[in-house]
Amino acid sequence: MGSKKKEDVRYSKDELLTVNITDIGNDGEGIGKIDGYTLFIKDAVIGDTVSAKIMKAKKNYAYAHLEKVIEPSEFRQEAKCPIARQCGGCQLQNMTYERQLQFKQNKVRNNIVRLGGFDGDFIDSITEPIIGMDEPWRYRNKAQYPIGIDKSGKLVAGYYAGRTHSIIPVDDCYIGIKENKAILDIVLKHMEENGIKAYDEASGKGLVRHVLIRKGFTSGQIMVCLVINYRDGKKDKNVDYFPNQKKIVDSLSKIPGMTSISVSINTEKTNVIMGYEIHTIWGRDTISDTLCGLDFEISPLSFYQVNPVQAQKLYEQAISYAGLSGKETVWDLYCGIGTITLSMAKTAGHVFGVEIIPDAIEDAKRNAKRNGLSNADFFCGKAEEVLPEFYKNGGYDGVSSNEALHPDVIVVDPPRKGCDEKCLETMLKMQPDRIVYVSCDSATLARDLRILADGGYELKAVRACDMFSWSGHVETVCLLSKLKDAKQHVEIEVSPEK
Ligand code: SAH
Repeated sequence: MGSKKKEDVRYSKDELLTVNITDIGNDGEGIGKIDGYTLFIKDAVIGDTVSAKIMKAKKNYAYAHLEKVIEPSEFRQEAKCPIARQCGGCQLQNMTYERQLQFKQNKVRNNIVRLGGFDGDFIDSITEPIIGMDEPWRYRNKAQYPIGIDKSGKLVAGYYAGRTHSIIPVDDCYIGIKENKAILDIVLKHMEENGIKAYDEASGKGLVRHVLIRKGFTSGQIMVCLVINYRDGKKDKNVDYFPNQKKIVDSLSKIPGMTSISVSINTEKTNVIMGYEIHTIWGRDTISDTLCGLDFEISPLSFYQVNPVQAQKLYEQAISYAGLSGKETVWDLYCGIGTITLSMAKTAGHVFGVEIIPDAIEDAKRNAKRNGLSNADFFCGKAEEVLPEFYKNGGYDGVSSNEALHPDVIVVDPPRKGCDEKCLETMLKMQPDRIVYVSCDSATLARDLRILADGGYELKAVRACDMFSWSGHVETVCLLSKLKDAKQHVEIEVSPEK
């Protein structure tokens, strides 16, 4: 038994090994093999020869820590950010952008082939090149910085270290907007000068929890929302939430583009960042932004794509796959504030949006009005409940046309867990001509594509889109088309022989 145990775990903790990196894991980590034993090494790049220290060894594989790059890969580059390795935000800063795009396209392909059971050559034949970014830095229009103290008790703003809640101070994050730094400097300085404490998760004491910053890239408008643990009874727009509030507001309002300053009250012991109560303390309640030629109003609580430049390219691809000519009936499931729905409403007959968050549905309705679009209806609820009920009842709230029950196109853009089976089942019953699937997780996408393919739909096109450069995440858009009616096939093929 003793000898078996030795065989089971080939390497022990802290052992130092030299290995060639020959593959990339799902999160972008380097993978190397020694005599069939696999090592997963974060921050190692395909093509590197590295020295790595075993951290956790299992029977057939181990996680190891990158100690030293012995021979750098042709795809290795210096990380732009000095804290890229500690911070939980980026995983691929050591890989050239071109190689990163190739990795993401392969990741989507491999998931569809392995988890969806599709033929590799077939997927290659219908895959269009990944949509990359022209400028892969400073692309995020939104940042949420936790505020805390470091070991010496100094106030800091930053990001959480990977998988932890300790804050790494970040002066200037290169994927965020340049204005973030000036805003954070003002907030921290004001807190220091006025003895305002950062929120402490353990005790539940202290005032300032997070700073949310958002910018409309086309409008240039900036929003700052300070998330505070404010327990005083008085709350409205004339209340001072901070000592010397006028001073911090004066400083922040001088930043070019500043449009809205608000507080969000969150007194809960929770990981959820925003509190639901929002009070504007200066300027407007919302900022605006233009996407696909439409004007959207965004409040602090609304979901809005964080990379608007790529979101527009993704939506344009989805619209093109939808094949709209002006007459079509379209369902947009998981529609958020209606960005895809309304972009399609411009060139469709009628669109229906379904979304679980009531505030988002209210935003969607307002945004439809704001853009003069009257051919859109929105339903609030779970897609897997709203759609089956609509189908079963032959309509809802006066909307009962055959077109709505059997639309031309169904678009889905679910969260990472993908579509619920009930939702997919109803989609198949509704028999749309085309299904456009937008996905932020290619593993659940692959699972759902298999269900749709088995239900009579042919996968026609796959295209990845890079929305989150330097992270391992990738967005995908797919087109599926209804196969000709199976019964007709039988009649055409069988009857001549009879
Ligand atoms: N298409 C939108 C939003 C995509 S994000 C856009 O591009 O902006 C996914 C959305 O699905 C979120 O708004 C989330 O609130 C919503 N959602 C999550 N689970 C849902 C469910 N079961 N039914 C309907 N919507 C859901």
